Amino acid sequence: MNTIIFYLTILCVVSTTFVNNTQSQNPKASAGGGSPDPQLSQKDNDYLDRQSAVFLDSVRAILSKYPPVLKEGKERGYAKLLLDAVFHEKFAAFRKPAQDFYHAQNGKLIKELEEANITKGARIWKVYDMGFIVRTQTVTIAFDLVSGITSGSKEFALSTAELERIVKQCDLLFISHRHSDHAEKAVAELFLQAGKPVISPAQVWQQDSIFSRIMHPEPIAEKVHQIKLPGNRMLEVICYPGHQGKSIDNNVSLVTTPDGITVAHTGDELNEGDFMIDYDWIDQVTKHHKVDILMPNAWTMDILRVAKGFNPKLVLPGHELELGHTVWDRLPYWGDDAYLELTYKQLKASKYPVVALIWGESFEYMPKQSGK
Ligand SMILES: [Zn+2]
Ligand SMILES: [Zn+2]
Repeated sequence: MNTIIFYLTILCVVSTTFVNNTQSQNPKASAGGGSPDPQLSQKDNDYLDRQSAVFLDSVRAILSKYPPVLKEGKERGYAKLLLDAVFHEKFAAFRKPAQDFYHAQNGKLIKELEEANITKGARIWKVYDMGFIVRTQTVTIAFDLVSGITSGSKEFALSTAELERIVKQCDLLFISHRHSDHAEKAVAELFLQAGKPVISPAQVWQQDSIFSRIMHPEPIAEKVHQIKLPGNRMLEVICYPGHQGKSIDNNVSLVTTPDGITVAHTGDELNEGDFMIDYDWIDQVTKHHKVDILMPNAWTMDILRVAKGFNPKLVLPGHELELGHTVWDRLPYWGDDAYLELTYKQLKASKYPVVALIWGESFEYMPKQSGK
């Protein structure tokens, strides 16, 4: 017998024996074909659905008892670990319990937005990814507001009705850059149809008819743009000329509200390798401004240096669990610092107060009397 055929025959016998053994040990196992994950059987998929429901119920129970605070206890840490577990699975957004959780969280957010009257300081909500809404006494500002459609699941994404209610509560929208987890045309359209300004870098939807209706303030460090809003309100805006790598322009917006709160949102700001020109202005921001709140992308390289540049009173990181990214690239709440070579851990251990919100959650910021 030919040696190769001999070995193949042995291999086939061994394989068949293995399959038979596996089947006899677990007669319910099958080869896949289930939904939403076709690599798993329906029974396996059903198990993951049930597990998502149980894990997310625990998350809900923990969050209702332990809202975001400056020095968070271990309970919120456990809730975040459960979220990391549920959403680090390729088909997470296609599971009903995950969709229900996301909609319930943002349903709460919408209701709060409709009712919240801020008389001092600011309240900041996180919608999804880098989507934040900041409300002060005089204005409500949306940054990188998106529905969650990048997850690939229509059922997961916020509906038009949900988005309309959010947009109704906001005065304007800042879009940091052209990536779809930050810029969603349907959302920008809702703002524009309501006569509310949308501000973005010129790279966003450049070839589209929507382009001419969007404001493109010149991205120059320390150049102040005044954005007029109804009711004689004026926002002071600086669009720092940021980047995500060399080819993507990324506005880092610094906004001062009429009542004197200054917030900054970094989009997907990234300084990496031999392309670090943005530190020229990042390192200088604190010399020109008293920044109250910084909303940085939690996965950016050397986030501690970015924080030092802005020197804010409060840091609210974003971009955790972006479901449009592949599993390893969905920044988990636990950080994955060593693998991703980040300084997120150092930021959390630094003098800067860091509060990592979960979808739908909010945090109240009160400036100190003497601080400003
Ligand atoms: Zn991006
Ligand atoms: Zn992004």
